[in-house]
Amino acid sequence: MTLMDGRAVANAVKEEAALRAKALIERGVTPHLAVVLVGEDPASQVYVRNKETGCRKTGIRSTVVRLAQDCTQQDVEETVARLNADASVHGILVQLPLPRHLDEARVLRLIDPDKDVDGFHAMNAGRLMIGQPGFVPCTPLGVMKLLEAYEIDLTGKHAVVIGRSNIVGKPMAMLLLAANATVTVCHSRTQGLAEIARQADILVAAVGRPRFVTADMVKPGATVIDVGINRVDGRLVGDVDFDAVSQAAGCITPVPGGVGQMTIAMLLCNTIDAAARHGR
Ligand code: NDP
Repeated sequence: MTLMDGRAVANAVKEEAALRAKALIERGVTPHLAVVLVGEDPASQVYVRNKETGCRKTGIRSTVVRLAQDCTQQDVEETVARLNADASVHGILVQLPLPRHLDEARVLRLIDPDKDVDGFHAMNAGRLMIGQPGFVPCTPLGVMKLLEAYEIDLTGKHAVVIGRSNIVGKPMAMLLLAANATVTVCHSRTQGLAEIARQADILVAAVGRPRFVTADMVKPGATVIDVGINRVDGRLVGDVDFDAVSQAAGCITPVPGGVGQMTIAMLLCNTIDAAARHGR
């Protein structure tokens, strides 16, 4: 069994990103990511801090715009409009989830698609769907980078994605399809899920349920990608029952130290791509 080391691959991606950032800075373009953080959600605070650290280490300028928990829809929309208009800002990210009284979809629609480094805007989702260049959501993009780093052959292989969210499952399926895998997407209404999962050469779990994928759902030798991040008794666990599944899998990602590491690395790459386009 091969343990897919997300930390090592992410570090290599970040080193390359730092070189690209340096080259841009030498040309007079400092890559700049603006993050909009609304409220005091503790998990969001941690994610934003990690993004700031990633930017700093890579040579990317980061600005965090903090808005109060009880801010209005207009406050958020004006903030996004201001960042859209600011030529020094190359990437804009609105940290999700937003407080319930705010219309998340409306906010995401307002981000300039060319600064949408999270890849959540409908324009970028559409570009991915029809195979045009655009920003791709960082987590599934990171999974593709990991598969590439471990030279996992996708052509003609059966990839099963469990989960159909807009930020992980659906873009994941599109990327695997574009890489010539035969793709099945499962969700909460899927019948016979275990049997479908057992047919997978590549199994991606993005469910949000701790240890959902058990050993009997995995074909011997399959590549198992665990996107899940769940907190159980203060510990981070994935959507895959790692101890049992690692006995059957050919390759597997750990949690932590797997896909999660790749997400921020890909955000840094997307920001540098945005800066490179703007700076031309
Ligand atoms: P969502 O809750 O948006 O989506 C979960 C998906 O799983 C849905 O499509 C849902 O189906 C499906 N699902 C839920 N229960 C079952 C079930 N019993 N059987 C089959 N399918 C089921 O989650 P996300 O996609 O945002 O995230 C998934 C996981 O990945 C979470 O643990 C999250 O924390 C983690 N994550 C990790 C990231 C990283 O950087 N590593 C980044 C983003 C997310 P239906 O559509 O029918 O409801």
